Amino acid sequence: MQHTALSEPLLTDLRRAVRGPVLQPDEPAYADARPVWNAMIDAAPALIVQAAEAADVAPTVALARATGLPLALRGGGHNVAGKGTVDGGIVLDLGNLRSVEVDAEARTVRVQAGATLADVDAATTAHGLAVPLGVVSGTGVAGLTLGGGVGWLTRKHGLTADNLLGACLVTADGREVTVDAGTDPELLWALRGGGGNFGVLTEFTFRAHPLGPEVLGANLIYRTERWRDAWRAVASWTRDLPDELTVITTTLTPPPLLDAGDEPILIVGAAWASPDVAAGEALIDQMRRACPPDDEEVGLVPWVQWQSAMDAAFPKGVRAYWRNASFDRMDDEVIDVLVRRGEEQSWLGTAFDVHLMGGAFSRFGPDTSPFPNREARFWINTYGFWADPQQDQARVAFVRGMARDMERFATGGHYVNFMGQEEDGHRTLDPAVTFGADAYQRLVAVKRRLDPDNLFRVNHNIRPV
Ligand SMILES: Cc1cc2nc3c(=O)[nH]c(=O)nc-3n(C[C@H](O)[C@H](O)[C@H](O)COP(=O)(O)OP(=O)(O)OC[C@H]3O[C@@H](n4cnc5c(N)ncnc54)[C@H](O)[C@@H]3O)c2cc1C
Repeated sequence: MQHTALSEPLLTDLRRAVRGPVLQPDEPAYADARPVWNAMIDAAPALIVQAAEAADVAPTVALARATGLPLALRGGGHNVAGKGTVDGGIVLDLGNLRSVEVDAEARTVRVQAGATLADVDAATTAHGLAVPLGVVSGTGVAGLTLGGGVGWLTRKHGLTADNLLGACLVTADGREVTVDAGTDPELLWALRGGGGNFGVLTEFTFRAHPLGPEVLGANLIYRTERWRDAWRAVASWTRDLPDELTVITTTLTPPPLLDAGDEPILIVGAAWASPDVAAGEALIDQMRRACPPDDEEVGLVPWVQWQSAMDAAFPKGVRAYWRNASFDRMDDEVIDVLVRRGEEQSWLGTAFDVHLMGGAFSRFGPDTSPFPNREARFWINTYGFWADPQQDQARVAFVRGMARDMERFATGGHYVNFMGQEEDGHRTLDPAVTFGADAYQRLVAVKRRLDPDNLFRVNHNIRPV
Protein backbone atom coordinates (compact mmCIF):
# COMPACT_ATOMS: atom_id res chain seq x y z
CA MET A 1 0.00 0.00 0.00
CA GLN A 2 1.26 3.53 -0.87
CA HIS A 3 2.11 5.77 2.09
CA THR A 4 2.00 9.55 2.24
CA ALA A 5 4.19 11.27 4.83
CA LEU A 6 2.54 12.79 7.89
CA SER A 7 2.77 16.40 6.69
CA GLU A 8 2.38 19.43 8.96
CA PRO A 9 -0.94 20.47 7.34
CA LEU A 10 -2.40 16.98 7.95
CA LEU A 11 -1.24 17.04 11.57
CA THR A 12 -2.58 20.55 12.12
CA ASP A 13 -5.97 19.46 10.77
CA LEU A 14 -5.96 16.43 13.09
CA ARG A 15 -5.03 18.51 16.15
CA ARG A 16 -7.93 20.84 15.36
CA ALA A 17 -10.35 17.94 14.92
CA VAL A 18 -9.60 15.93 18.08
CA ARG A 19 -9.66 16.80 21.78
CA GLY A 20 -7.07 14.24 22.98
CA PRO A 21 -3.26 14.54 22.76
CA VAL A 22 -1.61 13.90 19.38
CA LEU A 23 1.92 12.73 20.18
CA GLN A 24 4.98 12.59 17.91
CA PRO A 25 8.26 10.93 18.96
CA ASP A 26 9.92 14.23 19.94
CA GLU A 27 7.22 15.10 22.50
CA PRO A 28 7.90 14.24 26.18
CA ALA A 29 4.57 12.43 26.70
CA TYR A 30 5.32 10.07 23.77
CA ALA A 31 7.74 7.92 25.83
CA ASP A 32 5.04 7.02 28.37
CA ALA A 33 2.42 6.50 25.66
CA ARG A 34 4.57 4.14 23.52
CA PRO A 35 4.98 0.85 25.48
CA VAL A 36 2.44 -1.95 25.46
CA TRP A 37 2.16 -4.76 28.03
CA ASN A 38 4.57 -7.08 26.17
CA ALA A 39 8.06 -5.51 26.27
CA MET A 40 9.20 -7.74 23.38
CA ILE A 41 7.10 -5.54 21.12
CA ASP A 42 9.33 -2.49 20.94
CA ALA A 43 7.55 -0.56 18.19
CA ALA A 44 8.00 3.16 17.55
CA PRO A 45 4.81 4.58 16.01
CA ALA A 46 5.04 7.78 13.97
CA LEU A 47 2.03 9.14 15.85
CA ILE A 48 -0.01 8.24 18.93
CA VAL A 49 -3.48 9.72 19.25
CA GLN A 50 -4.91 9.38 22.76
CA ALA A 51 -8.65 9.77 22.25
CA ALA A 52 -10.35 11.98 24.84
CA GLU A 53 -13.82 11.23 23.48
CA ALA A 54 -15.44 8.94 20.95
CA ALA A 55 -15.57 11.83 18.48
CA ASP A 56 -11.75 11.68 18.24
CA VAL A 57 -11.95 8.35 16.42
CA ALA A 58 -13.33 9.38 13.00
CA PRO A 59 -10.68 12.09 12.30
CA THR A 60 -7.90 9.63 13.21
CA VAL A 61 -9.37 6.96 10.94
CA ALA A 62 -9.58 9.61 8.17
CA LEU A 63 -5.89 10.44 8.65
CA ALA A 64 -4.93 6.76 8.38
CA ARG A 65 -6.99 6.51 5.21
CA ALA A 66 -5.46 9.66 3.72
CA THR A 67 -1.86 8.65 4.43
CA GLY A 68 -2.12 4.88 3.98
CA LEU A 69 -0.09 4.48 7.18
CA PRO A 70 -0.88 1.35 9.21
CA LEU A 71 -3.34 2.04 12.02
CA ALA A 72 -3.13 0.13 15.33
CA LEU A 73 -6.06 0.23 17.75
CA ARG A 74 -5.33 0.06 21.46
CA GLY A 75 -7.71 -0.65 24.31
CA GLY A 76 -5.92 -2.12 27.34
CA GLY A 77 -2.62 -2.63 25.44
CA HIS A 78 -2.41 -6.27 26.66
CA ASN A 79 -2.42 -8.00 23.29
CA VAL A 80 0.33 -10.60 23.58
CA ALA A 81 1.19 -10.42 19.87
CA GLY A 82 1.52 -6.65 20.25
CA LYS A 83 -1.32 -5.74 17.92
CA GLY A 84 -2.01 -2.57 19.93
CA THR A 85 0.97 -0.78 18.40
CA VAL A 86 2.81 -0.50 15.09
CA ASP A 87 6.25 0.61 13.94
CA GLY A 88 6.10 3.79 11.86
CA GLY A 89 2.30 3.92 11.81
CA ILE A 90 -0.51 5.55 13.75
CA VAL A 91 -1.70 4.26 17.14
CA LEU A 92 -5.24 5.19 18.16
CA ASP A 93 -5.27 4.66 21.92
CA LEU A 94 -8.76 4.54 23.46
CA GLY A 95 -7.45 3.80 26.96
CA ASN A 96 -8.85 7.01 28.46
CA LEU A 97 -12.44 6.14 27.50
CA ARG A 98 -13.35 3.96 30.47
CA SER A 99 -16.89 4.72 31.54
CA VAL A 100 -19.15 1.79 32.45
CA GLU A 101 -22.94 2.18 32.80
CA VAL A 102 -24.99 -0.59 34.37
CA ASP A 103 -28.71 -0.94 33.74
CA ALA A 104 -29.46 -3.20 36.70
CA GLU A 105 -33.08 -3.75 35.74
CA ALA A 106 -32.37 -4.74 32.13
CA ARG A 107 -29.17 -6.55 33.22
CA THR A 108 -27.14 -4.85 30.52
CA VAL A 109 -23.85 -2.96 30.74
CA ARG A 110 -22.53 -0.29 28.36
CA VAL A 111 -18.76 -0.16 28.36
CA GLN A 112 -16.49 2.35 26.62
CA ALA A 113 -13.72 0.84 24.50
CA GLY A 114 -10.79 1.73 26.78
CA ALA A 115 -12.20 0.11 29.92
CA THR A 116 -10.30 -2.65 31.68
CA LEU A 117 -11.84 -5.75 33.23
CA ALA A 118 -11.38 -4.07 36.64
CA ASP A 119 -13.56 -1.13 35.53
CA VAL A 120 -16.40 -3.44 34.50
CA ASP A 121 -16.20 -5.72 37.54
CA ALA A 122 -16.16 -2.74 39.93
CA ALA A 123 -19.30 -1.29 38.33
CA THR A 124 -21.31 -4.52 38.00
CA THR A 125 -20.52 -6.05 41.40
CA ALA A 126 -22.18 -3.06 43.06
CA HIS A 127 -25.44 -4.36 41.54
CA GLY A 128 -24.81 -8.05 42.26
CA LEU A 129 -24.12 -8.62 38.56
CA ALA A 130 -21.16 -9.77 36.46
CA VAL A 131 -20.17 -9.95 32.81
CA PRO A 132 -18.05 -13.03 31.94
CA LEU A 133 -14.51 -11.63 31.48
CA GLY A 134 -10.88 -12.82 31.72
CA VAL A 135 -8.79 -13.54 34.80
CA VAL A 136 -6.31 -10.60 34.98
CA SER A 137 -8.00 -7.32 35.75
CA GLY A 138 -5.76 -4.92 33.80
CA THR A 139 -6.66 -6.59 30.48
CA GLY A 140 -8.65 -4.41 28.05
CA VAL A 141 -12.30 -5.24 27.48
CA ALA A 142 -11.95 -4.29 23.79
CA GLY A 143 -9.32 -6.81 22.72
CA LEU A 144 -10.64 -9.47 25.10
CA THR A 145 -14.17 -9.28 23.68
CA LEU A 146 -13.20 -8.97 20.03
CA GLY A 147 -11.07 -12.12 20.30
CA GLY A 148 -13.39 -14.16 22.57
CA GLY A 149 -12.85 -13.77 26.32
CA VAL A 150 -12.24 -16.87 28.45
CA GLY A 151 -12.46 -16.69 32.24
CA TRP A 152 -14.06 -17.90 35.44
CA LEU A 153 -17.66 -17.69 34.14
CA THR A 154 -17.11 -19.34 30.76
CA ARG A 155 -18.86 -22.61 31.62
CA LYS A 156 -21.81 -20.87 33.25
CA HIS A 157 -22.39 -18.02 30.78
CA GLY A 158 -20.06 -18.49 27.77
CA LEU A 159 -17.32 -16.25 26.44
CA THR A 160 -17.29 -12.47 26.89
CA ALA A 161 -18.05 -12.31 23.16
CA ASP A 162 -21.10 -14.58 23.57
CA ASN A 163 -22.54 -11.93 25.89
CA LEU A 164 -21.98 -9.04 23.48
CA LEU A 165 -25.41 -7.65 22.60
CA GLY A 166 -24.40 -4.62 20.59
CA ALA A 167 -21.70 -2.09 19.86
CA CYS A 168 -20.94 1.37 18.48
CA LEU A 169 -18.15 1.61 15.94
CA VAL A 170 -16.55 3.87 13.38
CA THR A 171 -16.09 2.14 10.03
CA ALA A 172 -13.19 2.46 7.57
CA ASP A 173 -15.12 5.07 5.60
CA GLY A 174 -15.72 7.15 8.74
CA ARG A 175 -19.36 6.24 9.43
CA GLU A 176 -20.56 5.95 13.02
CA VAL A 177 -22.58 2.75 13.21
CA THR A 178 -24.63 1.21 16.00
CA VAL A 179 -24.97 -2.53 15.62
CA ASP A 180 -27.10 -5.13 17.37
CA ALA A 181 -28.88 -8.35 16.45
CA GLY A 182 -31.69 -6.36 14.80
CA THR A 183 -29.63 -3.95 12.69
CA ASP A 184 -26.74 -6.08 11.40
CA PRO A 185 -26.64 -9.62 12.84
CA GLU A 186 -23.77 -10.67 10.57
CA LEU A 187 -21.51 -7.86 11.78
CA LEU A 188 -22.43 -8.59 15.40
CA TRP A 189 -21.51 -12.25 14.76
CA ALA A 190 -18.15 -11.18 13.31
CA LEU A 191 -17.37 -8.89 16.25
CA ARG A 192 -17.79 -11.84 18.64
CA GLY A 193 -14.33 -13.25 17.94
CA GLY A 194 -13.23 -11.86 14.57
CA GLY A 195 -11.01 -9.23 16.21
CA GLY A 196 -10.57 -5.55 15.39
CA ASN A 197 -10.98 -6.15 11.67
CA PHE A 198 -14.24 -4.37 11.00
CA GLY A 199 -14.03 -0.89 12.53
CA VAL A 200 -13.01 1.03 15.64
CA LEU A 201 -15.31 0.05 18.49
CA THR A 202 -16.16 2.96 20.74
CA GLU A 203 -18.69 1.19 22.96
CA PHE A 204 -19.80 -2.37 23.81
CA THR A 205 -23.14 -3.48 25.31
CA PHE A 206 -23.06 -6.71 27.30
CA ARG A 207 -25.56 -8.98 28.95
CA ALA A 208 -24.82 -9.21 32.70
CA HIS A 209 -25.73 -12.05 35.07
CA PRO A 210 -26.55 -12.21 38.77
CA LEU A 211 -23.44 -13.07 40.79
CA GLY A 212 -22.02 -12.66 44.25
CA PRO A 213 -20.86 -10.23 45.46
CA GLU A 214 -18.88 -13.26 46.75
CA VAL A 215 -17.99 -16.50 44.97
CA LEU A 216 -16.68 -19.75 46.30
CA GLY A 217 -13.10 -19.94 45.05
CA ALA A 218 -10.70 -22.86 45.41
CA ASN A 219 -7.00 -23.39 44.81
CA LEU A 220 -5.86 -26.96 45.47
CA ILE A 221 -2.07 -27.01 45.31
CA TYR A 222 0.11 -30.02 44.40
CA ARG A 223 3.89 -30.52 44.55
CA THR A 224 5.59 -32.27 41.62
CA GLU A 225 5.44 -35.80 43.13
CA ARG A 226 1.62 -35.62 43.07
CA TRP A 227 1.12 -34.18 39.59
CA ARG A 228 0.39 -37.41 37.75
CA ASP A 229 -2.23 -38.41 40.33
CA ALA A 230 -3.64 -34.90 40.38
CA TRP A 231 -4.05 -34.81 36.58
CA ARG A 232 -5.70 -38.24 36.61
CA ALA A 233 -8.09 -37.02 39.29
CA VAL A 234 -8.79 -33.85 37.27
CA ALA A 235 -9.49 -36.02 34.21
CA SER A 236 -12.25 -37.99 35.93
CA TRP A 237 -13.54 -35.19 38.21
CA THR A 238 -14.13 -32.81 35.29
CA ARG A 239 -16.04 -35.37 33.24
CA ASP A 240 -19.44 -34.41 34.60
CA LEU A 241 -19.36 -31.11 36.47
CA PRO A 242 -22.27 -28.65 36.48
CA ASP A 243 -21.94 -25.45 34.43
CA GLU A 244 -21.59 -23.37 37.57
CA LEU A 245 -18.10 -24.76 38.23
CA THR A 246 -15.32 -23.43 36.00
CA VAL A 247 -11.93 -25.11 36.48
CA ILE A 248 -8.54 -23.78 35.37
CA THR A 249 -5.54 -25.96 36.20
CA THR A 250 -2.26 -24.03 36.22
CA THR A 251 1.30 -25.38 36.28
CA LEU A 252 3.82 -22.71 37.22
CA THR A 253 6.79 -21.74 39.28
CA PRO A 254 5.05 -19.45 41.73
CA PRO A 255 5.95 -15.78 41.82
CA PRO A 256 7.15 -14.56 45.25
CA LEU A 257 3.81 -12.88 45.98
CA LEU A 258 2.12 -16.28 46.26
CA ASP A 259 4.58 -17.20 49.05
CA ALA A 260 4.52 -20.82 47.83
CA GLY A 261 8.26 -21.53 47.53
CA ASP A 262 10.26 -21.63 44.30
CA GLU A 263 9.51 -25.16 43.10
CA PRO A 264 6.96 -25.56 40.30
CA ILE A 265 3.44 -26.32 41.53
CA LEU A 266 0.18 -27.42 40.02
CA ILE A 267 -2.89 -25.46 41.08
CA VAL A 268 -6.36 -26.83 40.45
CA GLY A 269 -8.30 -23.56 40.51
CA ALA A 270 -12.08 -23.50 40.58
CA ALA A 271 -14.79 -20.85 40.86
CA TRP A 272 -18.37 -21.75 41.77
CA ALA A 273 -20.89 -19.32 40.24
CA SER A 274 -23.94 -20.19 42.34
CA PRO A 275 -25.41 -19.03 45.65
CA ASP A 276 -25.65 -22.69 46.77
CA VAL A 277 -22.27 -22.64 48.53
CA ALA A 278 -22.69 -26.06 50.13
CA ALA A 279 -23.17 -27.71 46.72
CA GLY A 280 -19.98 -26.05 45.46
CA GLU A 281 -18.04 -27.14 48.53
CA ALA A 282 -19.21 -30.72 48.00
CA LEU A 283 -17.93 -30.70 44.41
CA ILE A 284 -14.55 -29.32 45.44
CA ASP A 285 -14.41 -31.97 48.14
CA GLN A 286 -14.76 -34.66 45.45
CA MET A 287 -11.49 -33.47 43.91
CA ARG A 288 -9.88 -33.12 47.33
CA ARG A 289 -10.77 -36.72 48.17
CA ALA A 290 -9.72 -38.07 44.77
CA CYS A 291 -6.28 -36.54 45.22
CA PRO A 292 -5.56 -34.83 48.56
CA PRO A 293 -3.67 -31.57 47.90
CA ASP A 294 -0.42 -30.55 49.63
CA ASP A 295 -1.93 -27.20 50.37
CA GLU A 296 -5.19 -25.39 49.66
CA GLU A 297 -7.13 -22.15 49.84
CA VAL A 298 -10.88 -22.62 49.66
CA GLY A 299 -13.50 -20.13 50.71
CA LEU A 300 -15.83 -17.28 49.85
CA VAL A 301 -14.03 -14.41 48.15
CA PRO A 302 -15.42 -11.06 46.94
CA TRP A 303 -15.77 -11.40 43.16
CA VAL A 304 -13.60 -8.35 42.49
CA GLN A 305 -10.84 -9.78 44.67
CA TRP A 306 -11.00 -13.18 42.94
CA GLN A 307 -10.82 -11.44 39.56
CA SER A 308 -7.64 -9.55 40.51
CA ALA A 309 -5.93 -12.25 42.61
CA MET A 310 -3.29 -12.98 39.95
CA ASP A 311 -2.67 -9.38 38.80
CA ALA A 312 0.73 -8.92 40.41
CA ALA A 313 2.05 -11.99 38.60
CA PHE A 314 1.46 -10.29 35.20
CA PRO A 315 3.04 -6.82 35.46
CA LYS A 316 3.14 -4.50 32.45
CA GLY A 317 6.56 -4.47 30.78
CA VAL A 318 7.43 -8.17 31.01
CA ARG A 319 8.53 -10.03 27.89
CA ALA A 320 5.99 -12.54 26.65
CA TYR A 321 5.23 -15.23 24.10
CA TRP A 322 2.11 -17.47 24.15
CA ARG A 323 0.60 -20.38 22.18
CA ASN A 324 -2.66 -22.32 22.60
CA ALA A 325 -4.58 -25.40 21.46
CA SER A 326 -7.86 -27.17 22.12
CA PHE A 327 -8.06 -30.87 22.96
CA ASP A 328 -10.48 -33.49 24.27
CA ARG A 329 -8.35 -36.31 25.67
CA MET A 330 -6.96 -36.29 29.19
CA ASP A 331 -5.38 -39.76 29.18
CA ASP A 332 -1.92 -40.91 30.29
CA GLU A 333 -0.32 -39.88 27.01
CA VAL A 334 -1.51 -36.28 27.42
CA ILE A 335 -0.73 -36.32 31.14
CA ASP A 336 2.85 -37.42 30.32
CA VAL A 337 3.32 -34.24 28.28
CA LEU A 338 1.73 -32.02 30.93
CA VAL A 339 3.89 -33.50 33.69
CA ARG A 340 7.16 -33.60 31.71
CA ARG A 341 6.80 -30.07 30.39
CA GLY A 342 5.65 -28.84 33.79
CA GLU A 343 8.78 -30.23 35.41
CA GLU A 344 10.93 -28.38 32.86
CA GLN A 345 9.60 -25.07 34.13
CA SER A 346 12.35 -24.41 36.59
CA TRP A 347 12.15 -20.69 36.05
CA LEU A 348 9.79 -18.03 37.22
CA GLY A 349 7.34 -16.78 34.68
CA THR A 350 6.55 -19.56 32.24
CA ALA A 351 3.44 -21.54 32.84
CA PHE A 352 0.46 -23.22 31.27
CA ASP A 353 -3.24 -23.15 32.03
CA VAL A 354 -5.61 -25.94 31.08
CA HIS A 355 -9.12 -24.47 30.92
CA LEU A 356 -12.04 -26.85 31.32
CA MET A 357 -14.56 -25.76 28.67
CA GLY A 358 -17.98 -27.26 27.96
CA GLY A 359 -21.11 -26.03 29.73
CA ALA A 360 -22.65 -22.88 28.24
CA PHE A 361 -19.52 -22.35 26.11
CA SER A 362 -20.31 -25.51 24.15
CA ARG A 363 -23.97 -24.59 23.64
CA PHE A 364 -23.27 -21.30 21.82
CA GLY A 365 -22.98 -22.70 18.30
CA PRO A 366 -21.27 -21.42 15.15
CA ASP A 367 -24.22 -19.08 14.54
CA THR A 368 -23.38 -17.10 17.67
CA SER A 369 -19.77 -16.30 16.84
CA PRO A 370 -16.77 -17.36 14.76
CA PHE A 371 -14.97 -18.70 17.85
CA PRO A 372 -13.65 -22.13 16.81
CA ASN A 373 -14.15 -25.62 18.20
CA ARG A 374 -16.95 -25.28 20.73
CA GLU A 375 -16.84 -29.06 21.18
CA ALA A 376 -13.40 -28.96 22.81
CA ARG A 377 -13.33 -30.16 26.42
CA PHE A 378 -10.09 -28.32 27.17
CA TRP A 379 -8.03 -25.38 25.92
CA ILE A 380 -4.40 -25.12 26.90
CA ASN A 381 -2.66 -21.75 27.01
CA THR A 382 1.12 -21.90 27.38
CA TYR A 383 2.46 -18.52 28.37
CA GLY A 384 5.95 -17.28 28.90
CA PHE A 385 6.61 -13.98 30.63
CA TRP A 386 10.04 -12.95 31.84
CA ALA A 387 12.21 -9.87 32.35
CA ASP A 388 15.66 -10.56 30.87
CA PRO A 389 15.99 -10.23 27.05
CA GLN A 390 18.82 -12.79 27.16
CA GLN A 391 16.22 -15.41 28.05
CA ASP A 392 14.05 -14.70 24.99
CA GLN A 393 15.28 -17.65 22.96
CA ALA A 394 14.95 -20.27 25.73
CA ARG A 395 11.51 -19.14 26.84
CA VAL A 396 10.09 -18.88 23.33
CA ALA A 397 11.56 -22.32 22.59
CA PHE A 398 9.82 -23.75 25.66
CA VAL A 399 6.43 -22.38 24.61
CA ARG A 400 6.88 -23.61 21.04
CA GLY A 401 8.04 -27.02 22.28
CA MET A 402 4.94 -27.36 24.41
CA ALA A 403 2.77 -26.25 21.46
CA ARG A 404 4.44 -28.88 19.27
CA ASP A 405 3.87 -31.61 21.87
CA MET A 406 0.19 -30.72 22.20
CA GLU A 407 -0.40 -30.40 18.45
CA ARG A 408 -0.97 -34.15 18.01
CA PHE A 409 -3.82 -34.06 20.54
CA ALA A 410 -5.33 -30.83 19.17
CA THR A 411 -8.89 -30.95 17.90
CA GLY A 412 -8.94 -27.74 15.85
CA GLY A 413 -8.86 -23.97 15.92
CA HIS A 414 -6.69 -21.48 17.74
CA TYR A 415 -7.72 -18.73 20.13
CA VAL A 416 -6.40 -15.45 18.69
CA ASN A 417 -6.09 -13.77 22.10
CA PHE A 418 -3.71 -16.47 23.34
CA MET A 419 -1.33 -16.14 20.38
CA GLY A 420 2.11 -14.59 20.56
CA GLN A 421 3.90 -12.73 17.81
CA GLU A 422 5.14 -14.93 14.97
CA GLU A 423 8.40 -13.69 13.46
CA ASP A 424 9.80 -14.33 10.02
CA GLY A 425 11.09 -17.83 9.60
CA HIS A 426 8.46 -19.36 11.89
CA ARG A 427 5.14 -20.76 10.75
CA THR A 428 2.46 -18.09 10.80
CA LEU A 429 -0.90 -19.38 11.91
CA ASP A 430 -3.31 -19.55 9.02
CA PRO A 431 -6.59 -17.67 9.78
CA ALA A 432 -8.59 -20.33 7.95
CA VAL A 433 -7.13 -22.92 10.34
CA THR A 434 -7.56 -20.62 13.32
CA PHE A 435 -11.29 -20.09 12.78
CA GLY A 436 -12.11 -23.07 10.55
CA ALA A 437 -12.84 -22.67 6.83
CA ASP A 438 -16.59 -21.92 7.05
CA ALA A 439 -16.33 -19.25 9.73
CA TYR A 440 -13.35 -17.74 7.97
CA GLN A 441 -15.26 -17.38 4.68
CA ARG A 442 -18.10 -15.63 6.56
CA LEU A 443 -15.59 -13.31 8.21
CA VAL A 444 -14.04 -12.49 4.83
CA ALA A 445 -17.50 -11.56 3.48
CA VAL A 446 -18.12 -9.15 6.39
CA LYS A 447 -14.61 -7.72 6.00
CA ARG A 448 -15.15 -7.15 2.28
CA ARG A 449 -18.37 -5.26 3.02
CA LEU A 450 -17.02 -3.12 5.89
CA ASP A 451 -13.31 -2.69 5.07
CA PRO A 452 -12.60 -3.62 1.43
CA ASP A 453 -9.22 -1.84 1.45
CA ASN A 454 -8.06 -3.52 4.67
CA LEU A 455 -7.52 -0.28 6.58
CA PHE A 456 -7.80 -2.29 9.82
CA ARG A 457 -4.96 -4.73 9.23
CA VAL A 458 -2.83 -4.44 12.41
CA ASN A 459 -4.54 -7.46 13.98
CA HIS A 460 -4.90 -11.19 13.36
CA ASN A 461 -5.93 -10.12 9.93
CA ILE A 462 -8.96 -11.23 7.95
CA ARG A 463 -7.99 -10.26 4.41
CA PRO A 464 -10.90 -8.97 2.27
CA VAL A 465 -10.00 -11.26 -0.64
C1 LIG B 1 -1.75 -10.63 31.57
C2 LIG B 1 -2.77 -11.08 30.57
C3 LIG B 1 -3.84 -11.84 30.99
C4 LIG B 1 -4.81 -12.27 30.08
N1 LIG B 1 -5.85 -13.03 30.51
C5 LIG B 1 -6.79 -13.43 29.63
C6 LIG B 1 -7.92 -14.20 30.05
O1 LIG B 1 -8.06 -14.53 31.22
N2 LIG B 1 -8.83 -14.57 29.13
C7 LIG B 1 -8.72 -14.24 27.82
O2 LIG B 1 -9.59 -14.61 27.05
N3 LIG B 1 -7.67 -13.50 27.38
C8 LIG B 1 -6.71 -13.10 28.25
N4 LIG B 1 -5.64 -12.39 27.81
C9 LIG B 1 -5.50 -12.14 26.39
C10 LIG B 1 -6.24 -10.86 26.02
O3 LIG B 1 -7.60 -11.14 25.85
C11 LIG B 1 -5.69 -10.29 24.70
O4 LIG B 1 -4.33 -10.03 24.87
C12 LIG B 1 -6.45 -9.04 24.26
O5 LIG B 1 -6.06 -8.73 22.93
C13 LIG B 1 -6.18 -7.87 25.15
O6 LIG B 1 -7.02 -6.80 24.85
P1 LIG B 1 -6.51 -5.30 25.05
O7 LIG B 1 -7.61 -4.39 24.69
O8 LIG B 1 -5.87 -5.16 26.38
O9 LIG B 1 -5.36 -5.28 23.94
P2 LIG B 1 -4.82 -4.16 22.93
O10 LIG B 1 -3.39 -4.51 22.72
O11 LIG B 1 -5.14 -2.79 23.37
O12 LIG B 1 -5.67 -4.45 21.65
C14 LIG B 1 -5.59 -5.68 21.03
C15 LIG B 1 -6.23 -5.69 19.68
O13 LIG B 1 -7.64 -5.61 19.87
C16 LIG B 1 -8.20 -4.82 18.87
N5 LIG B 1 -8.79 -3.61 19.45
C17 LIG B 1 -8.47 -3.00 20.61
N6 LIG B 1 -9.27 -1.95 20.80
C18 LIG B 1 -10.10 -1.89 19.74
C19 LIG B 1 -11.16 -1.04 19.36
N7 LIG B 1 -11.56 -0.03 20.11
N8 LIG B 1 -11.80 -1.28 18.20
C20 LIG B 1 -11.42 -2.32 17.40
N9 LIG B 1 -10.43 -3.15 17.70
C21 LIG B 1 -9.78 -2.94 18.87
C22 LIG B 1 -7.15 -4.46 17.89
O14 LIG B 1 -7.04 -5.42 16.86
C23 LIG B 1 -5.91 -4.53 18.75
O15 LIG B 1 -4.80 -4.66 17.98
C24 LIG B 1 -4.69 -11.92 28.71
C25 LIG B 1 -3.59 -11.16 28.28
C26 LIG B 1 -2.64 -10.74 29.21
C27 LIG B 1 -1.47 -9.97 28.74
